[in-house]
Amino acid sequence: MIDKMKKIAVLTSGGDAPGMNAAIRSVVRTCAYYKIDCVGVYRGYDGLLDADFVALDARSVRGVINKGGTFLKSARCKRFMTPEGRKIAYDNLTKAGIDGIVLIGGDGTFTGGLVFNSEYGFPVMGIPGTIDNDINGTDRTLGYDTALNTAVEAIDKIRDTAHSHDRLFFVEVMGRDVGHIAINAGIGAGAEEILVPEEDMGIDRLVESLERSKKSGKTSSIVVVAEGDKIGKSVFELKDYVDENLEEYDVRVSVLGHMQRGGSPTCYDRVLASRMGVKAVESLMEGKSNYMVGTIHDKMSLTPLEEAIKGKTKLNKELIRVSDIMTT
Ligand code: ATP
Repeated sequence: MIDKMKKIAVLTSGGDAPGMNAAIRSVVRTCAYYKIDCVGVYRGYDGLLDADFVALDARSVRGVINKGGTFLKSARCKRFMTPEGRKIAYDNLTKAGIDGIVLIGGDGTFTGGLVFNSEYGFPVMGIPGTIDNDINGTDRTLGYDTALNTAVEAIDKIRDTAHSHDRLFFVEVMGRDVGHIAINAGIGAGAEEILVPEEDMGIDRLVESLERSKKSGKTSSIVVVAEGDKIGKSVFELKDYVDENLEEYDVRVSVLGHMQRGGSPTCYDRVLASRMGVKAVESLMEGKSNYMVGTIHDKMSLTPLEEAIKGKTKLNKELIRVSDIMTT
């Protein structure tokens, strides 16, 4: 270990995700373990520009591991996207004697960190905190497991009412570019159909499939739709189409929305956050920068931020096959 890191900052940026608090806690406790000062930055990059810092010690993060959201708050910061804004951020970091920073967020946050590092050589380390699981270089992002469980629990409840009233429900889950939440929550909740952005099954095939399941004796159905699904312009448009073309169904829509971002993190996310925080601080101590910590086949890994932000993770095709078989 190199002894250069005397003070490390941590911030949460972009969309919040369950497990961010647990990750902050881990960064703070790891710093305390190695006798490094730790500083929390409020409201993502906004806090860097406003020098909105708070000293954090091991006791400051008691009682946060089980809390959703992020006590440091998160924000999207337009000013950091300008060279002038980043200069102010750099000056504030230097004035506060900070030697490196842990960025907890998604690909936008990492892009900002990379630009910042290229201009000032300031050491940055990323922790992937986003419910979408769409970042290269890690089996799972922080918050994904919790979001999945939230979605499954909600769909189970919707199924109860769908069954009681013989209804067809379209349930929209998060996932603008990738269908990880939709395919997993759909299989986990026993959905009849799962619509993901990666596959366009076509609306007529969907109608045919729903007709078939009606004929096979199903009285209620759940179709899980990722918000980025390409068949309809929106889940409401899908509903209208099916309403018109399948009279025998009483169709409803439920958009799960932001509830998927909140809630107490699952044990998986808490453990993942704890591991990532340790790895992030230790990597900065080793003189590394511009990496994202992650797990690959459950082993801690470092992926260059440049690769992490390239493209989106691919949907596991095996899951699509499993879902097809399960919906027979
Ligand atoms: P999520 O996946 O939840 O949307 P994210 O980290 O991708 O999270 P963004 O809003 O895309 O969220 O990015 C967070 C912040 O990172 C932005 O508000 C901005 O301050 C900074 N950022 C993003 N892209 C750049 C860039 N090209 N240059 C400088 N800063 C950037």
